[in-house]
Amino acid sequence: MTHTVDVVVIGGGQAGLAAGYHLRRKKLDFVILDAQDEPGGAWRHTWDSLHLFSPAAFSSLPGRLMPAQSGEEYPDAHHVVGYLADYDQRYDLPVHRPVRVDSVRRDGHRLRVETDSGAWSARAVVSATGTWWRPFIPAVPGRSTFAGRQLHTTGYRSPEAFAGQRVVVVGGGNSGAQIAADLALADDVDLTWVTQRPPRYLADDIDGRALFDAATARRRALDEGTGDTGGVGSLGDIVAVPPVRTARDAGLLKAEPMFTRLTADGVIWADGTTAAAAAVIWSTGFRPALAHLAPLALRSRQGHIATEGTRAIGEPRLHLLGYGDWTGPASATLIGAGRPAREAAAEITALLS
Ligand code: FAD
Repeated sequence: MTHTVDVVVIGGGQAGLAAGYHLRRKKLDFVILDAQDEPGGAWRHTWDSLHLFSPAAFSSLPGRLMPAQSGEEYPDAHHVVGYLADYDQRYDLPVHRPVRVDSVRRDGHRLRVETDSGAWSARAVVSATGTWWRPFIPAVPGRSTFAGRQLHTTGYRSPEAFAGQRVVVVGGGNSGAQIAADLALADDVDLTWVTQRPPRYLADDIDGRALFDAATARRRALDEGTGDTGGVGSLGDIVAVPPVRTARDAGLLKAEPMFTRLTADGVIWADGTTAAAAAVIWSTGFRPALAHLAPLALRSRQGHIATEGTRAIGEPRLHLLGYGDWTGPASATLIGAGRPAREAAAEITALLS
């Protein structure tokens, strides 16, 4: 059976819900299809100690402020999941779970969305599937020879699983720094933290609010043609959230340069120095989860889809939300998801009328 609607939103994480909020305001006929069986998107799967890098009020989707979490200036992931579940209910968003979209293809004047529970025919599609589902691990020599455990950020939960072990954490971004701090602050884990270049901490008084401001200033400068301010990247890579600051200030976060290969029992650097390890945690980033769009043949060489705003240049009926700055500055953050969602809803409304 094929269902017919005006718009299908793929993904019911924060970006998909923000799209739903604005599509509803535009009174469009839409559904949100989400592969998870519960609300919360990627936030349901992060490690136990993860806290947001902005206070609640600066981590809100359109229409509804995130309430503060009692006793926490920076809410934890569990609080975000509760907020998203409440958001979804409060606006009575038509989210269908669990429904996994396998493909989107052109079908005359419409787009055909094939799922694991039937097909949908839509006049426009919003893809908001995030990046968590496509962890990236670089091709480092010797990876297959390592006899210990290898996992990505997506598989890390807490230091208890590594009690009494030597662990190598690879990655100098926020995930790498936070997981390294989590392990460094545990008494019984012997940590080696490896980063491609020396860690660049943001000033301690800078949190996600300043990142959002920097992204917004960059967008304004680009829109007005006054040059590229460098945005978030110009401030540094690592937000010094409280555990990172504590571990760093205690001298527990010493970063080593990247090793040259893995061996059976650890890692080795070019000068012959070795570090034994029972586990290697790859905090080496993510790629956009876009496999369902493959039949549209839109991928550019960087693995992204070329967009103007949120609209795919090669398929004007398709919008992309979240993923990264290439779909709008800070669009893959809670506070930044609203603006591109509003713009996408406005463009879709114009297209359909
Ligand atoms: P997701 O949360 O990944 O949601 C996508 C949804 O789409 C999921 O439910 C998924 O199951 C579903 N889906 C995927 N593929 C399909 C398919 N084929 N069919 C149907 N459904 C599908 N941002 C902040 O604002 N503040 C922070 O402090 C912050 N900290 C972060 C810390 C970490 C470790 C990470 C990784 C990110 C952080 N972010 C933060 C960034 C961002 O807010 C989150 O990554 C957020 O989860 C992105 O939301 P999203 O809706 O784009 O994607």
